[in-house]
Amino acid sequence: MEDSQLTPPAPASDASNPWDRPEREMLAAMVRSFAARELAPHLDEWERAGEVPRKIHLALGALGVLGAGFPEAVGGSGNIIDALTVTEEIVAAGGSSGLCAALLTHGIALPHIVRAGDPAQIAKYVLPTIAGELIGSLAITEPDAGSDVANIATSARRVGDKFIVNGSKTYITSGVRCDFAVVAVRTGEKGRHGISLLIIDKGTPGFQVVRKLEKMGWLCSDTAELAFSDVEVPVSNLVGAQGTGFAQIMANFTTERLSMAAQAAAVAKRCVEISLAWAMQRKSFGEPLTNHQVIRHKLAEMARQATVATSFVHEISAAFAQGREVGTEIAMAKNTAVFALDYVVNEAVQLHGGLGFMRGTEVERHYRDAKVMGIGGGTNEIMNEIIAKRMGI
Ligand SMILES: Cc1cc2nc3c(=O)[nH]c(=O)nc-3n(C[C@H](O)[C@H](O)[C@H](O)COP(=O)(O)OP(=O)(O)OC[C@H]3O[C@@H](n4cnc5c(N)ncnc54)[C@H](O)[C@@H]3O)c2cc1C
Repeated sequence: MEDSQLTPPAPASDASNPWDRPEREMLAAMVRSFAARELAPHLDEWERAGEVPRKIHLALGALGVLGAGFPEAVGGSGNIIDALTVTEEIVAAGGSSGLCAALLTHGIALPHIVRAGDPAQIAKYVLPTIAGELIGSLAITEPDAGSDVANIATSARRVGDKFIVNGSKTYITSGVRCDFAVVAVRTGEKGRHGISLLIIDKGTPGFQVVRKLEKMGWLCSDTAELAFSDVEVPVSNLVGAQGTGFAQIMANFTTERLSMAAQAAAVAKRCVEISLAWAMQRKSFGEPLTNHQVIRHKLAEMARQATVATSFVHEISAAFAQGREVGTEIAMAKNTAVFALDYVVNEAVQLHGGLGFMRGTEVERHYRDAKVMGIGGGTNEIMNEIIAKRMGI
């Protein structure tokens, strides 16, 4: 299927559409070609291994892909739309949301340091991570605190020029492979004002990867349970001012949510394309599946939902890139894309019949991976809470 058949129409003036810029098309073509050549063919192997090799981070770093969306001062280029373009193209070339999670964890691990960190932290952590030499994680979730971020318990007690950290984190993306983690810790009172962010190096005594978690999907993305037992962290590893961790986490959730929304919409679009190609060549009762009206209508509805999700995510990310306050709309965009994805992956597997249930079929991977899109980065229910609050209820 031609791309254009599922691409939402551009606004009247192309100049007003930040998605439609020549330099972005070059980035898109470069990522798509790299992903088709170097990523997609290895995905099954990486899913079996439970992780992506480090050399891939280095290759993406060398191409400048990991810098997409970060300021030039820290080795980046472009804006959020460039970062979303990278995820869209990885998926379009046969990658997956799990692959995006594994390769682009820096997208959630670095923004706090970029915005609130000092030059020494930027030199030590941000530049080498954008170059693909280091892998960072963001560790907020704990066994007893997920959606309720303000309730985290991992403690950081100040003793002289060090913090002594104790506690545990779970479901941490790239936590097994990471070289450092940006960790939400409690440095003060109960609630949101007592939370700070600390960078903790892997290898610091007492920082342990307890286990690599086994999951339903995102199989190529390693996910860890971490423990901190009297870990001594220099005060200089504090990101921003003490007590500002919660505000920093909330501010940076916006880009994570937009990224997940873009991935969800891109996977939905990809599944429509795969399903259409399959339905045109698969025969039942002597005819291609697409000769059955019920199948045509199924594909039409899948295409409608994927197109609406893509269009809305593009519109909201353009508004965000222009500096508009669109936190509520980002929550809406994430749920719109995730609900479209849930519908589309389910129908895509159904359209493939028994083949759709088989390991190694692309729609089967997308079906497994889809479930976490409504959980990570804030659940569907938490997105609805954000929307309801704006409605005054
Ligand atoms: C594969 C994967 C990767 C992840 N990566 C990371 C990572 O890199 N770093 C990190 O810090 N975390 C990560 N997470 C954690 C993720 O952010 C949390 O799982 C998520 O925020 C939900 O928290 P929870 O699992 O504790 O669920 P809970 O908060 O316990 O929620 C359980 C259920 O109750 C619902 N619920 C909770 N509160 C409300 C409410 N007020 N109103 C209505 N419903 C509510 C939720 O929506 C959910 O359906 C990851 C999770 C997964 C599965």
